[in-house]
Amino acid sequence: MRDADTAMYHAKTRGKARHEVFDADMHARVRDRLSLENDLRRAIISNDFEIVYQPIVRLTTGMCVGFESLIRWTRNGETVSPATFVPIAEELGLIDALGTWVLQEACCTFADWQRRFPAARLDCITVNVSSRQLIQQTFVRVVQQAVHRAGLKPADLRVEITETALMDSPGEAAGVLRELRDFGVKVYLDDFGTGYSSLSHLHKLPVDALKIDRSFVASLLLPDRPAIVESILALARTLNTSVVAEGIESDVQARELERLGCTHAQGFLFSRPLTTALAEAVVMANQPLGPKADKRNRDLLYSERLKLQQLDVDPVRQEAGAASRFARA
Ligand code: C2E
Ligand code: MG
Ligand code: MG
Repeated sequence: MRDADTAMYHAKTRGKARHEVFDADMHARVRDRLSLENDLRRAIISNDFEIVYQPIVRLTTGMCVGFESLIRWTRNGETVSPATFVPIAEELGLIDALGTWVLQEACCTFADWQRRFPAARLDCITVNVSSRQLIQQTFVRVVQQAVHRAGLKPADLRVEITETALMDSPGEAAGVLRELRDFGVKVYLDDFGTGYSSLSHLHKLPVDALKIDRSFVASLLLPDRPAIVESILALARTLNTSVVAEGIESDVQARELERLGCTHAQGFLFSRPLTTALAEAVVMANQPLGPKADKRNRDLLYSERLKLQQLDVDPVRQEAGAASRFARA
């Protein structure tokens, strides 16, 4: 009976009107998934998450202008990708609690940095929002409260939503995005170019910036590459929106994007996502990141890098600290 039930569960998760024959692997997968779900519920109750912050830089200078906040969950000593657990949190109806926490925490941390380090002139903190979270009735109010409580200017918060998520319920989503923009919060279209579906009516969507997906950045250096990056930049100029390129890993990619007129970028070349303490050290140092870093104040950057290494303790910190690229030695 239990095995038949397992097969039915499996068939349902793979779509409607289909059948699945039970096997032992299937049982193991269902057991693992249930265990993951239970751990996720517990983690949400005990607030067992961390936010890491990836610098967003101005390409011409390498200066950090803001951060993308990315959630992290460590389960049994291993980091679980948000790409795995965020969709599960959505399915289980837990995304509201999780998303609200990320919003509040990211807004407070960023407002605190702005107050303490005005010289850094940080101007944006982005928060990823999933489709189900966006269309919750309370979403706009949750955003407004998070902004007010943190003492943040609404325009400093940018909500990142993927094209695919927008297409899940375009009418409703566009309405929410308009309300957010009326309040002053900006809207970024994440992973842009991977969904295509919204291209046709992009001009009707209330969007302030397009984030070029890292798959296109990776293809920039191929000899017969498609002209997608140029197309996105041209589209952005027509729509009068900004562009942030994601996933820059090499100096050549950064230079090519700059040559094509892209203004902002993020990626491992400049910095991996950093723990709050490490991101704060970047803000405090207020120096260029990535390839432009070696032009100025090498000594200061060197001492900051040493300090960062001393801060590393847990696996996320170790990874972020080891890979943090303040300057090229
Ligand atoms: P995303 O919003 O497109 O985030 C960018 C992802 O690319 C992040 O993965 C980041 O760590 C990674 N990345 C950044 N630079 C580079 C690079 O140079 N090379 C490579 N290979 N990767 C790079 P992460 O943190 O695992 O997040 C994956 C996705 O999970 C995010 O994609 C976003 O869609 C979702 N996500 C993350 N945090 C949240 C959150 O708080 N709420 C929601 N709803 N979704 C989130
Ligand atoms: Mg994002
Ligand atoms: Mg993205």
